[in-house]
Amino acid sequence: MPRKPIVGGNWKCNPKTLEEAQKLIGEWKNQVPLDKRKIDVFACPMMPHLLKVKLPMEKLGISACAQNCSKTGEGAFTGEVSAAQLKDARVQWTLLGHSERRTKYGETDEEVAEKVSQALAAGLKVVLAIGELLDEREASKTDEVNERMLKPVVAKVKEEDWSRIVIAYEPVWAIGTGKVATPEQAEETHAAIRAYMAKAVSEDVAEKVRIQYGGSVTVDNCAELIKKPNIDGFLVGGASLKASFMEIVQKST
Ligand code: PGA
Repeated sequence: MPRKPIVGGNWKCNPKTLEEAQKLIGEWKNQVPLDKRKIDVFACPMMPHLLKVKLPMEKLGISACAQNCSKTGEGAFTGEVSAAQLKDARVQWTLLGHSERRTKYGETDEEVAEKVSQALAAGLKVVLAIGELLDEREASKTDEVNERMLKPVVAKVKEEDWSRIVIAYEPVWAIGTGKVATPEQAEETHAAIRAYMAKAVSEDVAEKVRIQYGGSVTVDNCAELIKKPNIDGFLVGGASLKASFMEIVQKST
């Protein structure tokens, strides 16, 4: 069974106003309709925008995805949003472990794994981001770093729950830099991630889990990347804030 492609837009802390967010969804609407049988699409606006643009997005066949969730449940945790609260707000997906959360906010591999566990327990689907820093790639530690990030998640997640996880491989040196990994570099790493999943979880999960590539994906470079057998879609940052994000979606179908 071929894996269904999946493309997501990570808006990060953008745009500044709700009006701009709504305008962008309006621009997406003018593009060719999505064939949901052929591709899954999600977008991650920041929290207040997410709840406002969720319905218009869903009408286009695009799922709403949070950018983060708490590693705890509800309670005295100022500034946090629990996985169950996201689910209650009818949000279906959450992104976890993005490199900006790991590097700028100090999230550890263990904390990310705890968040994955909370999200799955609440009934959410998860986009789990992993990836190495430039010096780690230069020291040939890419696979080691990805395995280090996956290991605590593997330890916490039941085999059947991997059907609700998508892995996003995002080399940190490629994020927002315009320096995209070559299709060969990305393919090699995706294949290594799959091999690790086969060893650490099962052949079946390794075969079925979808692995997105992320890091300076654009309309111009996505077609070559998606040809690779282990690349199942994209997590798109900067280019998802444009009307042409939908062209990336079309080219990935
Ligand atoms: P980028 O960001 O596409 O702007 O490189 C990707 C991401 O951070 O998910």
